[in-house]
Amino acid sequence: MKRNQSAWCLIMSDPKYARFGTPFIKLAEECSEVIQSCMKIERFGLDNYHPVTKEINRAALLREIDDLQERISEARAVLAQGGNDDY
Ligand SMILES: [Mg+2]
Repeated sequence: MKRNQSAWCLIMSDPKYARFGTPFIKLAEECSEVIQSCMKIERFGLDNYHPVTKEINRAALLREIDDLQERISEARAVLAQGGNDDY
C-alpha cells in the first residue's frame, strides 16, 4: 500500500510533524486532541490553564477545533478523489 503524503504536508498546524501520518491518522489524532481538551474543561473548568504553557482551556479547545477542521477538510479532499489506497 503506497501513500503519497507530500500534498498533505503543507497544511499541518505544527510544521515539525508535517511529514508524518496519513490524512486519516491525522484526522483521528486531532479528534483525540479535541476529546482531551473537552475532558480538561470538564475536570478543571473553562478558565483553568495548563501549568507549563499557561494556555487557558477554552483557548486550547478552540485551537484543537481549528486543527480538527483542517484535518476534516484534508480527509474530505482525499475521499472526494474517489481513488484507492494510493492517496
Ligand atoms: Mg491539535
